[in-house]
Amino acid sequence: MTSEKAIEKKRKYNREYAKKNADKRKEYRKAWRARKLEDNPDYWKEEAAKNKDSQKEYYEKNKVEINKRKKVYTLPPKSLEKVRARDREYAKENADKRKEYKKAWRAKKKAADPDYWKKGVASKESRIAADKKYKKRNQEVLLERGRKYYNINKEEINKKRKEYRKKKYAEDPDYYKKEKIKDGDMKNKARSIASQFPMAESCERCGSTYFLNRHHEDYNKPKIFLTLCKKCHGLEGRKYQKSL
Ligand SMILES: [Zn+2]
Repeated sequence: MTSEKAIEKKRKYNREYAKKNADKRKEYRKAWRARKLEDNPDYWKEEAAKNKDSQKEYYEKNKVEINKRKKVYTLPPKSLEKVRARDREYAKENADKRKEYKKAWRAKKKAADPDYWKKGVASKESRIAADKKYKKRNQEVLLERGRKYYNINKEEINKKRKEYRKKKYAEDPDYYKKEKIKDGDMKNKARSIASQFPMAESCERCGSTYFLNRHHEDYNKPKIFLTLCKKCHGLEGRKYQKSL
């Protein structure tokens, strides 16, 4: 028997033994940890610090190799979506546990430093502002991600939308008529406000100077618009619809 085979056999035996004696091992480890703690109350802290240093050292030494490996293991979008879905599912299943855990964590932070929340974490307003900034900075990436997500989950999403529309219709058969009027009103209002501001001299996407129009990304902000040519405006509209 080659030594490789022997090693594999030994490993397999060890794995099976570990599986069979899982409870025993747990007990044993617990006792071992308790013993260590008794010998030196800071044992785990020291150990963690040691590990951190050696991990850092290891990383510095093998940086190139590690990052290469990381790149290779970057998941394709479909798998990534699967992993994310699983994470979401897990989060949903363990919502109560998470809540408890977060609460305990916050309490711990507060006990360690009563002013932690005042200085450590930004206020709600600044967090919202940062979020907005992030979304704006990563607009293209987020849009692309949304598109991919939609393409993968098209059926599910469309089903949900249909159900939502049905529900709204059941509550009030005129709901969509009213919404349309509201929408149209908003559009007209935004357009009339925007018309008081001059357009750019050329399309802000392609530079064309023909058939220029004002394009609103948000009718709630009528003064903020892009000057787009007819072609780019059409593309923009389709892009928006696709991202929904
Ligand atoms: Zn254009």
